[in-house]
Order: sequence, then structure tokens, then C-alpha cells
Amino acid sequence: MPEGRPDSTLAAGLEYFRDLGVRDLFFARTLPGVAAGSMPDQAALQAYLVDCGRCKLAGSRQRIVFGSGNPNADLLFVGEAPGREEDEQGVPFVGAAGQLLSQIIEAMGMKREDVFIVNTVLCRPPNNRNPEPDEVAACRPFLREQIRLVAPLVIVTLGTFAAQAILETDEPISRLRGRWQVAHGARVMPTFHPAYLLRSPQHKKDVWGDMQKVRDYLAGRPGSG
Ligand code: URA
Repeated sequence: MPEGRPDSTLAAGLEYFRDLGVRDLFFARTLPGVAAGSMPDQAALQAYLVDCGRCKLAGSRQRIVFGSGNPNADLLFVGEAPGREEDEQGVPFVGAAGQLLSQIIEAMGMKREDVFIVNTVLCRPPNNRNPEPDEVAACRPFLREQIRLVAPLVIVTLGTFAAQAILETDEPISRLRGRWQVAHGARVMPTFHPAYLLRSPQHKKDVWGDMQKVRDYLAGRPGSG
């Protein structure tokens, strides 16, 4: 096609979508991922991802929600995706599910500042829909790098998406929950998501059982006092 001349196939395609009522188009930018081990710290990773446009969530998010907490934590929680409050504040787990997560952490004898909390995808999916496979895939190298930098002893995955992303499996959470696994150089304990517990409080006892295993494992480590 001669330079500067509109591509007639592209033009026809755009007209077709315009006639269907589509008004916004989002073009994911082809940006590099991240080489494992290349980031010196969380701040460098955040600076690297500033204004990230690697997936379509960039078109609707307000803020990228990076992991937060103790950057050298022994215990790291992985959630699903930021919700409305997290998108507004840029901090993971600050809404109702986050308050329940804080209570769980305190019941384990720790404070929120002692642990690190991150999500499977760093940006809020519109209308709190589930993250889609291409979005999880686009964020996976950055999730990995955040985990590598913290180097936790234990990772607790909250809900289906986190368990499947961390363990790279399609198994449902109902089958994974409560059973130790190994990934990212850490022990992994899959458990239910706190948002699920808000809807189904009868499962709180399952999560508490899982968290007791985590607490006891961490307490039994040499040098844990
Ligand atoms: N808030 C988060 O940051 N992550 C979730 O998975 C749910 C709520």
C-alpha cells in the first residue's frame, strides 16, 4: 500500500464497527515484558510499568495497583484483581474484602504491614468482571518479578485466579484449597478469596484451617522466635 493512503480494508472494517455503534477503540501497545531478575527493587518495577499499556485494562483503569507491604515479607498474599476502591486509591485490598483480609492476617498474629499483598492483574477489570486470560498473561511476568523481589517463604493465593496463575494450572480452587504446593521458590497455600467469604461465611472455617497451617509453618522455621 502506498504510504499515506488509507487502507481500504481497514477503513471498511472501521466503518462496520462505527455502524454497529462502537465509538471507542483501544489499541494495546506492543511494549516489552520484563526479563526475570532484571529489576533491582519494587520501585524500579513500578517506574518501568508507569503508564503500562500492555493489555486492554489500561483503557479503563484509573491507577495501576502495585503490590504493597513489607518488601522482604516471609508471607505474600496474591489476590485476583483491584476493585473500585483499589483503583481509586492505588492500594490492593482496601475495600470490604480487604478489611476481611486484614482481620485474617491479624488472627494469624501478624499485621498487614508485615506481609506483602499483590494481585494477579495490576489493573481493575471494568465492572469488576473476571480478568481475562490475555490480561493475566500480560501481567504474569510482572507478578513473577514482584514475587521474586520479595522472595517469600509462603505464598497464599486467594481464590481461583490467583491459584491458577501462581500454580499454572486449570484445577478449580475447590480441589486446590488447603493443600500445600510449591511454586516461585516458595510453599504455596491456595485458599478461598475473602470476597467469597463475604458471600459464603460458612467457608470461613476452611480458610482459618488453611491459615493455621501457614502460621504454624512460619512459626516452626528456625529463627522465627
Ligand atoms: N481487592 C484486591 O485488591 N484484590 C482482590 O482480589 C479483591 C479486592
